[in-house]
Amino acid sequence: MVRKDTKAMNWEPVIGLEVHIELKTKSKMFCRCSADYFGAEPNSHTCPICLGLPGALPKPNVESIKFVQKLGLALNCRIQLSSKFDRKNYFYPDLPKGFQISQYDKPFSINGHIEIKGQENLKRIRITRVHLEEDTGKLTHATINGRRVTLIDFNRSGVPLVEIVSEPEMSSSDEIKDYAQKLQQIVRYLGISDADMEKGSMRIEPNISLRRVGEKALPPYKIELKNINSFKFAQAAVEYEIERQAKILKSAKTPQQETRGWNEIKKQTVSQRSKELAHDYRYFPEPDLVPLSFKPQESIKLKSEMPELPHQKFKRLTLTYELSQYDAQILTRDIKVAEFFEEAVKIAKDHGLSPKEVANKIINKNINVKNTLPAQLIKILLESKKTEEIDDNKLTAIINSVLRENPKAVSDFTKGKETAIMFLAGQTLKRLKVKADPRLVIEKIKNILASSRKRKIES
Ligand SMILES: [Zn+2]
Repeated sequence: MVRKDTKAMNWEPVIGLEVHIELKTKSKMFCRCSADYFGAEPNSHTCPICLGLPGALPKPNVESIKFVQKLGLALNCRIQLSSKFDRKNYFYPDLPKGFQISQYDKPFSINGHIEIKGQENLKRIRITRVHLEEDTGKLTHATINGRRVTLIDFNRSGVPLVEIVSEPEMSSSDEIKDYAQKLQQIVRYLGISDADMEKGSMRIEPNISLRRVGEKALPPYKIELKNINSFKFAQAAVEYEIERQAKILKSAKTPQQETRGWNEIKKQTVSQRSKELAHDYRYFPEPDLVPLSFKPQESIKLKSEMPELPHQKFKRLTLTYELSQYDAQILTRDIKVAEFFEEAVKIAKDHGLSPKEVANKIINKNINVKNTLPAQLIKILLESKKTEEIDDNKLTAIINSVLRENPKAVSDFTKGKETAIMFLAGQTLKRLKVKADPRLVIEKIKNILASSRKRKIES
């Protein structure tokens, strides 16, 4: 609906995405506190460094830097040989130091890309940068003894956070969903984060503006959508924005550059604040951390340690197990499902079952790989094969009696009256009492009639 409206007005959406993903490292970014804070007692994972107490000195977590560089490689980025951390200054209650350690002009990796589903073919979306920063604390607004209060939990403060910035090259809400899902899949394959939107370990921020179809220059304004915690809401917010901005542009005005949030109850975006520019943050090199340099050999070593990525696994599964692209797509969507499939195939081989049979069972029966073992699946598969055989015997018996009781229809069909088979199939289905695919029943009747004719000719 939205697309039609904007097309009619000759407007084209220009959408970029900033994605924040919390890294699953053992400790926080600049201290030894555990980064595994979800569900923990508030403020139990804190120390002078992540509380920003005066005099506390940060020490970078090497594991998190490796994670970010791996992600850079997986996103076809160039790993920078020299990099550094910077201070991004702003005041917010969840930021105890009054600044956030981030990266400004020398991020760990730059110039990558990701391939998503375009309107017709695959579409390449360029990735500007992948950088590392620290997460903030968490604010909760509550009412205690009748008073409105804000509670602060610093468990999340200092947890490593990677930010992936794309070029504004997407043009629909479907594309941002596909981009974000591809990114989530890659991060999970790398094992560097759960990238769980519900738990807040993955947050997406689309920036969106409209330009006239055919225009190449970027629009003179940009709306950023903040703190959206589901793919569905992100899509809805983007669609709402396309419509809202198109209305403003239609009245010959330019939408105001600002940050907006999504109100799920009202199903609309709401203004939050006018957008800061980079110079408002007064970035400067972090004086407590030395600049970092990497040798080219280190990036080669990192490349050799890379696990199989989603597109590689997809290709291998289609080739090795002769799966259709559709099946391979579903099986590789979640790395746990792909691993489960390959385990099950190994066991299946001993029982004479094909990879295709295993794939069908996982896909059609929607097997939950979290609470099923590959061996259990094979057992179910063998049992259901037995039932199918029994059912097959039962079906043959019913068809035979239907054929015996309807000699006229049988002879009509053998004389070439195709519709007679529909009648025989109808009779069979009626007696079968369980649901069956009519096409299969017709096929079966044809087979039985053909083989009985063959028997007659032979005798
Ligand atoms: Zn700490």
